[in-house]
Amino acid sequence: MSYRLTPRVQLRSSPATFSKAFSVYRGEPPRLVVAMAAEDITRLTILSLSMSTTVSPLSVSMEIPAYGATAAKAPLEPLKIERRKPGPHDVEIEILYCGICHSDVHKVNDDWGGTHFPVVPGHEIVGRVASRGTSATRFREGELVGVGCLVDSCRVCPECRAGREMFCEKGVTFTFDSFDQNTKMWTYGGYSTNIVVDERYVLRVPKGLDTARAAPLMCAGITTYSPLHQFECKPGDQVAVVGLGGLGHMAVKLAASMGADVTVLSTSRDKEKDASRLGAKHFFATKEPGALDALQGRFSLITDTVSAPHDLNKQLTFLRNFGTMVLVGLPPSGAQLDAFTLVHGNRRIAGSNIGGVAETQEMLDYCGKNGIVAEVEVINADQINDAYKRMERGDVRYRFVIDAASLRA
Ligand code: NAP
Ligand code: ZN
Ligand code: ZN
Repeated sequence: MSYRLTPRVQLRSSPATFSKAFSVYRGEPPRLVVAMAAEDITRLTILSLSMSTTVSPLSVSMEIPAYGATAAKAPLEPLKIERRKPGPHDVEIEILYCGICHSDVHKVNDDWGGTHFPVVPGHEIVGRVASRGTSATRFREGELVGVGCLVDSCRVCPECRAGREMFCEKGVTFTFDSFDQNTKMWTYGGYSTNIVVDERYVLRVPKGLDTARAAPLMCAGITTYSPLHQFECKPGDQVAVVGLGGLGHMAVKLAASMGADVTVLSTSRDKEKDASRLGAKHFFATKEPGALDALQGRFSLITDTVSAPHDLNKQLTFLRNFGTMVLVGLPPSGAQLDAFTLVHGNRRIAGSNIGGVAETQEMLDYCGKNGIVAEVEVINADQINDAYKRMERGDVRYRFVIDAASLRA
């Protein structure tokens, strides 16, 4: 096997690094792989290699600034990444803002296992169309668009046809840390200046929404809107939201906008005033002794957005008969469930994973009509590591959003 280095690439890595990179691609021979020069980490260099029999898409790629991590729990740092040039159906987006989701933090910490480093997180992207491929017709240059958690899927399997691309039977391509079957490259997310995405996966941002505050809708918005729809939230329903962070505050705003009577369960008493301003009618501080006694059998729906392990059995007792607790938070370790608590009252427990492209557009249009956006703290890229620390402490009001201009500076 011989390798051809694409232009602009210098070989600064050992054979061991290459064999490690190739070992990821057992099975079908790779058309293209990206390897990292692990020994030359002071300024991260991404090496692109291709087999001599194929044309490397990277030979027509562009190099852009980004922020990412090179190892689990390592601080994020400036680095350069390659983006493909827009193909016929692609749009190139100049990123304006990108929200920071706790999933980004889990990925950088490798909380769930399997993170592929270097990782460039970010899946709450808002930007303007900078250029488009010859057959891309859905958007015009300059239009304000969004990119959420996914950027490709097979498009023909039953799940894709049903608009549930996140469950694509051939494997969805997530916006970052995902192996793209077409380009044979790992995807890099929105902590960067530009992104190239097939227009089928690009979202239209309704006019009138604040640009920075619309970015978190691409994940926090759809992840909380989807279960409210699935479980038919309606006026007068007693709905609880556990955890008042990025997802939690969107859940409160959305459930309140649908007419629900919303209760926030939070570890932080000092978020009480905010909960009320966001639309919650009731607030309980979960760590205060006896505070939760009044909640037995109260809610038809509980949306649990908590990012860390916690007691689910206690929360289940807050459901009324046939009520549902839907988990959207993804703590790294699993939970023990008490069958008696579930069986008594036919209580239900469910999960919900983001939402497909059409439902995400539906959510954006809904937010456009109802003037719903996130509460954000706009930061520069060099504040990302502080933001991660604050999120790990639950100290977020209520979404950090990176100003991509700070990456261009
Ligand atoms: P976030 O902004 O950091 O908010 C999480 C909130 O959970 C915190 O603000 C805190 O709220 C609460 N919390 C944190 N540690 C806790 C603990 N030990 N015990 C009880 N409560 C605790 O995170 P996020 O971006 O909203 O994401 C939340 C979770 O959802 C993450 O696990 C993320 O990976 C996951 N997620 C899932 C999906 C999906 O498709 N299902 C999509 C996006 C994100 P209080 O201060 O109010 O207690
Ligand atoms: Zn997310
Ligand atoms: Zn599919």
